[in-house]
Amino acid sequence: MIKKVDIKHIIEHLYKQFVLLIIDLIEIYRLTTLKQEDMTIKSVWLDESEEECICCGGCEAICPEVFQVPVKMQVKRDVDYNLYEEGIKEAAQDCPTGTIKYDCSGKS
Ligand code: SF4
Repeated sequence: MIKKVDIKHIIEHLYKQFVLLIIDLIEIYRLTTLKQEDMTIKSVWLDESEEECICCGGCEAICPEVFQVPVKMQVKRDVDYNLYEEGIKEAAQDCPTGTIKYDCSGKS
């Protein structure tokens, strides 16, 4: 009799743990999916509304696949920005004038 109660209790406990595990996995999947969508870079551009590009070439040095600075910074066309996401973000962060902008949430 005691063994039956123990087994029932153990099964109930395992079932609850299994349900909690499934809920956690669903939440992890949801967060992972959202993060990937948020990191999709839709566009990159030079924004001189507050400061002007000083043509230092820093962005081109960091990510030449996306940026070129013949005179002022230009964003190369027909580039899959998501392949160079880290470079774009680093260039934008290191730009001394803060003129590199990108849209990574599809808000455009
Ligand atoms: S890092 Fe900034 S200031 Fe320098 S060339 Fe690029 S956009 Fe212009």
